[in-house]
Amino acid sequence: MKQNEINKAWLNCDFHIHTHFSDGALSLKDTIDLYGKHGFDVIAITDHIVNEKELTNFRGPNGKHIGILLKDDFPKYIQSIKQEAIRAMKLYNMLVLPGAEFTNNLDGFHLVGLDVTTYLNPGEPIERIVDHIHQQDGLAIAAHPVRGYYDNNADMTYLWENRHSLKNLIDAWELANRFDLYDEVAQSGLPIIGSSDFHEPSHLFSWKTLLGCSKSIADVKETIRDNTRVAIRFYEDEKLVPEIAK
Ligand code: ZN
Ligand code: ZN
Repeated sequence: MKQNEINKAWLNCDFHIHTHFSDGALSLKDTIDLYGKHGFDVIAITDHIVNEKELTNFRGPNGKHIGILLKDDFPKYIQSIKQEAIRAMKLYNMLVLPGAEFTNNLDGFHLVGLDVTTYLNPGEPIERIVDHIHQQDGLAIAAHPVRGYYDNNADMTYLWENRHSLKNLIDAWELANRFDLYDEVAQSGLPIIGSSDFHEPSHLFSWKTLLGCSKSIADVKETIRDNTRVAIRFYEDEKLVPEIAK
């Protein structure tokens, strides 16, 4: 089998991406174009919604909230992703899923909801949030469960500490987040994915997920749930790879 035939059998995916709608450096459109031009097959937009009790921590000098997606803006956010998904499929043959990162720094967890289109306060109990995600046939993914980049690396280990009671609720755990790889997750035998937690262009070159399935939302979700045809890879900038390694 030729190299490109091997690659064709696996979809190049990124399921954890932020845009201008929360604290990402790029607009939604520019993010789609960046991933599309790099030949990605499936991506998910997962901007931050935060525990409503910590909203005051996100107020800018002019009193407006910064770096987070508010409840009132959520329908417009989802609508924008749906419109961009049509453009991405036409232009790049790339599948785009809507989602959100349920961000709860007070209780110490970030949970990515994939294929989620309705809002729920991330301050709700974790079981309620997972139920909300599953009711719309979405996936609940534990983000950076062992260490976190967000909020000055605040303790974000609630999901990991409670993994035994939560393992039947959570569909997959990030084995890798951006440049980090978690030995603890690898050794746990829990279902895994790898994601960039993209906030700026340099984060494109980071951990990603490969899925052995067809390019449809139903198949993508089923393959993550089943977790037998899932691999992670470190996606590198071609310019940085020495000739000898190609
Ligand atoms: Zn996070
Ligand atoms: Zn994130």
